[in-house]
Parts: sequence; structure tokens; C-alpha cells
Amino acid sequence: MQQSKAALEIGGTFIQVGIGTKTDNKWTLNNKKTFDTRDPEDTLLDLVTYLQQFEFDSIQIASFGPLCLNKDDPQFGSITSTPKLKWQNFPIATRLSQALKKPFAIDTDVNACAMAEFMLGNHNVRQSLAYITIGTGVGVGIIVNGQCVHGMLHPEGGHILVAKQQEDKDFKGVCAFHGDCLEGLCTNVAIAKRLNCPITELPNISDDHPIWELVGFYLAEACQNILYLLSIEKIVLGGGVMNRKLLYPIIDKHLRRLVNKYVEIPENYIVEPQVEDVGLIGALLLQ
Ligand SMILES: [Zn+2]
Repeated sequence: MQQSKAALEIGGTFIQVGIGTKTDNKWTLNNKKTFDTRDPEDTLLDLVTYLQQFEFDSIQIASFGPLCLNKDDPQFGSITSTPKLKWQNFPIATRLSQALKKPFAIDTDVNACAMAEFMLGNHNVRQSLAYITIGTGVGVGIIVNGQCVHGMLHPEGGHILVAKQQEDKDFKGVCAFHGDCLEGLCTNVAIAKRLNCPITELPNISDDHPIWELVGFYLAEACQNILYLLSIEKIVLGGGVMNRKLLYPIIDKHLRRLVNKYVEIPENYIVEPQVEDVGLIGALLLQ
């Protein structure tokens, strides 16, 4: 029998929805649609109205966070302490589930992306993979022992600290919570602020600009920490900032220099994403 699931990738700016159908062990997405992320009640109405048209067995959600992922907690499936105030403590998964009368599965958008790359990307990994997205925020999804990592919460690797570079010492960073954490130093907002230009100007900045070495160095530090802590087999980097393809060899170079052969890093350790519609496909793979 054909299996159908509704997939949602909930971002702070827009929400992607699609209906996934599994045939011969392969998921295909149809009826894809993008909605603006409005106030939670309005957004919920948009999503329910759209999804009611289709037949499916469950609702699969990859969402921005932080999220409550503890199934024993009454808040399970809620977005918790987001700076988007109206979304704070909004039980998005439960409300969708009640309105559409279907069960749900939920994880962070980056854990879902990590799962999609782990299961469907051609990365030659056995049990672990990290997915880092660098855009208007920095998110880190982690697969260990073939599972998305959960615990007290879920990984929030965008907020780890990295060693600040001398030439960047006066930049205070842009993270609303921590200033110069990884996210505070590497998002497109942080890059634009250092260059004193709007984000829309960033594609016009030359590859020769020293900002890319700096951002690449910080991301290499993050990769180094992930490698040491979790012995991750492969790190996939995506998101808008990584459209600057030059960053891949820069990160690789700095990572190898920092690690200094203490562990042997395989070729192609830092790679681009391979799965199309990675967030929605990742949502479909959540248990
Ligand atoms: Zn932070």
C-alpha cells in the first residue's frame, strides 16, 4: 500500500508544505506550497485549510526552535523560547494534530536535514553526520548512532563559543542572547554588519575580501569542536552563506591546520548538501 504523509518545514520567515508519497521505499513530494510565517493562529489556519484537501496518515514537522521534544512533557511539540514572541510556547504540533485529526512527528529543522543527508545523501557514513546551516541563523543538526540527538533539549550548536580572531576583536557579534557566539559571528546579518552594508549586497562582495577567511575560520573551529566531541563521520554545510562556494575549501584548510594531524581527517570531510528539498524530505523521515 502507498504511504502518504504531510511534511512541513517551519521557518521563522516562511513555511514549506508538501505531501510525501512513499513508493518502492522512495519518497516523492507533491503539492508543494510556501506560506509566510504570520502570527501563529493565522499561520495555523493557513496550514490547516491547505492540508485538509489531501489524504495522509501523519503530520511530519521540521521546525525552527528551540522545541520541546520530550514526549513525557505536556509541552511536547511546542516552540519554546524563540525571540519571535508570539510563537513562544506555541504548541504547533499538537494544534495541527488536533485540527487535522492525525498523529505527528516533530524535530528541529536541522536535525531533519541531518537525517535526510544521513539516510539519502551519498556520504558513505555508517552511524553519524552533522548538518550545519548558516544563513540568517546558524543551526546544527546531529545524527549519532543513526538517530537524531535529543537530550535535555536538542543540539543548539549555533550558540557554541569559538576563539575570537585578533582582527575581529572589536566586533561584538549579533546574537541577541550571547553576542559573539558562532551564530553571532557567522550569519549573513553578522557579515553585513561588519561590512556596513545591507544583506542584499553580500552577493556582490568579492571572493578576495578577507571576511570569507574570517568566517571560514570560525566555521572550521565549530567543525573541529563537533569532530572532537562526537567523532562525527561527515559534516554537511548548507544555508545561504554557504552559497559562497569558496568557503568549503577555506573551512577545510583551517580545519586541517587547527587539528594539526592529531586525528586523521578523511578527504571530503566538509561537503555540500546532496538531498533536494532536504528539510521536507527530512521531515518525512522523522519517527
Ligand atoms: Zn548565541
